[in-house]
Formats: sequence, C-alpha cells, structure tokens
Amino acid sequence: MRTPNAFTDLRPTLRLFLFIMGVVFLCEATVMFVLPALLPYENNTMVEALVDASLLSVMSSIIILPLMLRLRRRAENVEQAINITDDGYWVVNSKGRFLEVNDGYCRMIGYSREELLKMQISDVEAIEDSALVRSHIESIMRNHQDRFETRHRHKSGRLIEIEVSVVRVGADTMVVFLRDITDRKRAASEIHNLAFYDTLTGLPNRRLLIDRLEQVLARSRQHNCYNAVMFLDLDNFKTLNDTRGHSQGDRLLMEVANRLKGTLRRDDTVARHGGDEFVIIVENLCQQLEHATDISQALAKKIINALNRPFMLDELEFQTSLSVGITLFQGDDVNVDELLRQADTAMYEAKKSAHSRLAFFQPAMQHALVKRTTLESDLRNALSRGELELYYQPQVDASDEITSAEVLLRWRHPVRGMISPAEFIPVAEDTGLILPIGMWVLENACKTLKYWGQDPMLEKVQLSVNVSAHQFRQPDFVDSLSNLLSTCGACASKLKLELTESAVQENITESIEKIRLLQGQGLGFAMDDFGTGHSSLTNLKRLPIDQLKIDQSFVRDLSFDASDRTIVRTIIVMAESLGLEVIAEGVETPEQRKLLYAFGCEAYQGYLYGPPMPLTDFENMAKQQGGATAQAI
Ligand code: C2E
Ligand code: CA
Ligand code: CA
Repeated sequence: MRTPNAFTDLRPTLRLFLFIMGVVFLCEATVMFVLPALLPYENNTMVEALVDASLLSVMSSIIILPLMLRLRRRAENVEQAINITDDGYWVVNSKGRFLEVNDGYCRMIGYSREELLKMQISDVEAIEDSALVRSHIESIMRNHQDRFETRHRHKSGRLIEIEVSVVRVGADTMVVFLRDITDRKRAASEIHNLAFYDTLTGLPNRRLLIDRLEQVLARSRQHNCYNAVMFLDLDNFKTLNDTRGHSQGDRLLMEVANRLKGTLRRDDTVARHGGDEFVIIVENLCQQLEHATDISQALAKKIINALNRPFMLDELEFQTSLSVGITLFQGDDVNVDELLRQADTAMYEAKKSAHSRLAFFQPAMQHALVKRTTLESDLRNALSRGELELYYQPQVDASDEITSAEVLLRWRHPVRGMISPAEFIPVAEDTGLILPIGMWVLENACKTLKYWGQDPMLEKVQLSVNVSAHQFRQPDFVDSLSNLLSTCGACASKLKLELTESAVQENITESIEKIRLLQGQGLGFAMDDFGTGHSSLTNLKRLPIDQLKIDQSFVRDLSFDASDRTIVRTIIVMAESLGLEVIAEGVETPEQRKLLYAFGCEAYQGYLYGPPMPLTDFENMAKQQGGATAQAI
C-alpha cells in the first residue's frame, strides 16, 4: 500500500537526481582516467582542464550526496511520525477534497483512508459549522495560514471537537493538522460548570449570578427599560432539614429549582444564591415604572403559587411557602451588591407580611436593615460581655399570692440602653444565637431555683422559662436540659417551660415525646400566647401540656370587646374540659382580673401585680408577701 505522505512525493525526484548524479559520476571517471590515456599529448592542457573540472564536480558530489541522503532519511522520519501520531494530518485542495490523510485522522474519524480519499471536508465536518469552515478556507487562501476550532462528525455519528492548524503550501493546496480536543473541552466545561453552576440544582451559582447581573446593569444603562431582581427564600426549609434530614432538604431544593425554571422565560436568570435562597433576574420589563411593578408582581405571584403546591419527597408530601423581595432598576447608579442587598431587604419585609409574602424594596427598609445588622453583630457579644440580664415577673393565684415568676430576658446595650426581647429574640432566633442564650437563661433559672430551695420564704416559688421553637427543636434539647438539672441539683418540678404553638406544631409526635420525657423528670409545660397560633384542637388534645396561657391581646380589651370575652371564655372552658390549668397574661386592671375570675381563670400575670423586675426586687416582693401571709395566719 502506498504510504500517503507529501514527502513520499520527493522519492521519484530523489531517485532521478541520484540517477543523474550517477551518470555525471561515470562521465567524470571517463574524463579523469580514460580520456588522458586516449588523447594525444598535445591535448594535455585541455585534458587537465577537464580533469580539474571533473575533480571539482566529484568533490561537490561527495559533499551533496550525504546531504541528499540525510534529507531523505529526515523525510522518512517525518512520514513515520505523521503516521504514528494520534493527531490528524491532511493535504487538501481549495475545493476541500482530500489528497492525503494519515492514520491518526482515520482513527480519529472512524473512516478508512480509502473512504476518506473519496470524500471531502464537508463530509466530515459538523453540518452546523460548515459556514464557519468555508470562511476559514477563504481566509487561508488569502492569508496562507489559520488556526481555529471546529467539530467533525465521527463515522458513528458522534461529534468530535477538533483544533485545526492550516498552512497553504501551494496555489491550491493546504496542509492541515488536526487535534481531537473533545476530552480537553469536556474537562474545561466541567471546570466551568463547577465554577459557575450549583452542583445540586444545576442552576447558575452566586458567581455567575453576579456576572449576569453586571451585564444586565451595563445594558440597562443603554436602554430605558426597567429590570427586576427578585430575592426568594423558602420559609420553612430549616425545619425540613432539621427534622427530615439533609437528603430531603436537597430533594426539595432540586424540585424547587425545577419549578422555578418551569415558571420563567428562557431569557430570565434563576440562580441559587446559597442555602434555600434563590435570585431571579428579569430583564427588559418595560419603560414605565407602574407597568414594570405590575408585571414583576404578577410574575412573583405566579412563582409563589407554583411553589405553594405540595412537593412529593419520597413518600412524603411537603408543603412550603416562599417569600419574595423585589427591586426594580433602570440604568440607575447602583452596583450589583446594592441591588442584591435591596432585594434581600425587601425579602425580609415580605417575610413579615403573612398574606402576600412579597414586597418591593423601599429606601426606608434599608435603614431598618442597617439597624438589624448592627443589632445582630452586637448581640453576638452580648452574652460574653455580660450585657444580658434576667427579670422576673410575678404570677399570682386567685388569692393574689405569688406562686411563681416568668423569667424574661433583658439586654442592657452599652449605647442604646435597655432593649426589649421582642426586638432581639427574633434576631437571636434567625442567627441561631438563641441556642447559647436560651441555655444561659435555663442555667440561671435552675441556679435561682436551687438557691430558693434553701430559703423557706422562697422555696415554694416556681419559675416559668420561655423556650424558643428553634431551641426546643434541637435534637439534644432533652439531654442538655436533663444534664443541666442534674448538675445544678435544682428541683425540676418547680420549673415550667413556656412553648408556643409553632414550636410544637412542626413535628407534633416528636414534641409530645420530648414533653413526656421532661415531664417524667418533674418539669411542667405551658402553652404560651394561646389563641394566636393555628394549632388544631386535635393537636391540643394530644399534647401533654399542663397549662394554657391566654394571650395578652385577648385580655387587653376584655372590658370593651365582646368577642374577646367570648374567646377568653371559650379558652377557659376548653382548658377545663381538657384538664389544663389556665393563666391570663397582661392583666393590668382590677376589672380585667374580675372578669377573668368570673370566667373561671384563677391565675394571673401582669402589671396589676408587678412588672418584670430584677431578681432581688422580686425576691423582696415574694418575701414580703410570705411575711404578710404568715402574719395573717
Ligand atoms: P411573652 O412570653 O408573651 O412575655 C410576656 C410579655 O408581656 C413580656 O414582654 C412582659 O414584659 C409583657 N407584659 C407583662 N405584663 C404585661 C402587662 O400587664 N401589659 C403589657 N402590655 N405587657 C405585659 P417582654 O418582657 O418584652 O418579652 C417579650 C417577649 O420576648 C416574650 O413574650 C417572649 O416571647 C420573649 N422572651 C422574653 N424572654 C425570653 C427568653 O428568655 N427566651 C425566649 N425564647 N423568649 C423570651
Ligand atoms: Ca411567655
Ligand atoms: Ca405570652
């Protein structure tokens, strides 16, 4: 089989050259050795001249011959290398017809050499790139060389990524080297994916999001259309993760990503910002702000509805809700960070609105956010700097005697002064700081109970401690509290935990188990803020709690509001039928107290009996009363 190589074309030329050289050599030998013998002496000068010329010629032949042989060897080496390399090699004419192909290309493309020599470039190039290849051929014919990437179709049909280097070697001939870069391309694309896409959901990650947002921002400075950035946050993702494990959490995130993709246009970007947060960029809404607001609001509602449908996670049906913060921009002088911050701020606002779950950014929100962020960073150090204090608010029975106290947190901020727990407890819950803080409260309550136990004037006083939902849901909550009680040596039966409906509702079976375990050690349980949550009667019946605490919002208007009176009466009747104690909080006036008593409530807490106060004040109050009782007896 003829070895196809441009260098093989040199062989006949070389052979011809060697043949001519041989003839020349023979003639020279004749001139040098035969002519001098045959010619007469007078012609010696001419013979000498001829011999000199021949000598010169022989000398040059001796020099040229090895050179030629070396050239030939080199040509053969190149030819060999061209056939053993995995890279492809072609010689083609300007019409794209193959004149030569090497073994490497045959292996690369799956066709034999015979097949290829009957084909042309358009038969192997990927159809969609043919225009590109034609333009490259034209450019090579003009500029003599080129380098580019294209794709060829393997005989089996699969596409191969090819890097092509072309040199024009004649008026109509090109030498082409081809390298299969499919693996390299795949690796590069994997690296790109890892760097710019979220591995779990396949959505663009934060890095790509920022990149795209920068592009949208740059484009928006050129046209006058409004664009939107939406910040999405799943409302109860943490609970799913904590209670059902991370694999279920991951499943939900993947499903959410799919639904989001299904709801948006192809041009919109939906990215995973991190955790359970997603960001959507909607470009070119329209030029009027009002209309842009309407469109983005409608889209946000569509997204919220899409995610409100239950998700099937393995056999489990899971319902989640979503909060969406939206910010609109139109070539404004903002940067990407600012836009994301605005949408995030609006999202926090959306979380507060129980109904719509969506909010547009307004500058006033920024101020609130800055305040919250400062609060958050200050709170991180509050415990270690000893800025947290505990106040005690009396709880009395029907004879107005102090039976217990509710422990309430106070934060003595070095700059802002006293900060209400209503302001910092939600921040502590969001950041997880509630765990060390909550433990600190329980520790102090236990210590106080222990030392009251040694004082006859205080030994009967009980303590109620608020336990946040996040804290109660911790898998080690029961163990940590049991350890605390045993190390402290406090009497567990004098400790009551106040839980809210939301704390127990998430996983009612697990909550019941935890309550029972702690009740086994003597602890009591109260349902705080009762009436404001959504717990069903069935759940309430199942929960082994000891006390219902009527929320102060029903007590406040008891004297004027007939419906509040009905609610309070109903709660008391219900508690009685379930065998639960009742306590009313926020009792401020004798009138409220009278009504509550008339309805059957026999325990009260509120300013009527005393505000939350420092420990020593409370102790003095309780002791005085103890003294008064003793005197009366
Ligand atoms: P809460 O558990 O409902 O506590 C009762 C709140 O009502 C307290 O507010 C108390 O000062 C206030 N209050 C008491 N009597 C009256 C009254 O007669 N009228 C009115 N208008 N208010 C009254 P505070 O101390 O600001 O606590 C607010 C909330 O912060 C508490 O509500 C509780 O949910 C939370 N909190 C306080 N301490 C802790 C704690 O140690 N751990 C946790 N997780 N939450 C706490
Ligand atoms: Ca409480
Ligand atoms: Ca309460």
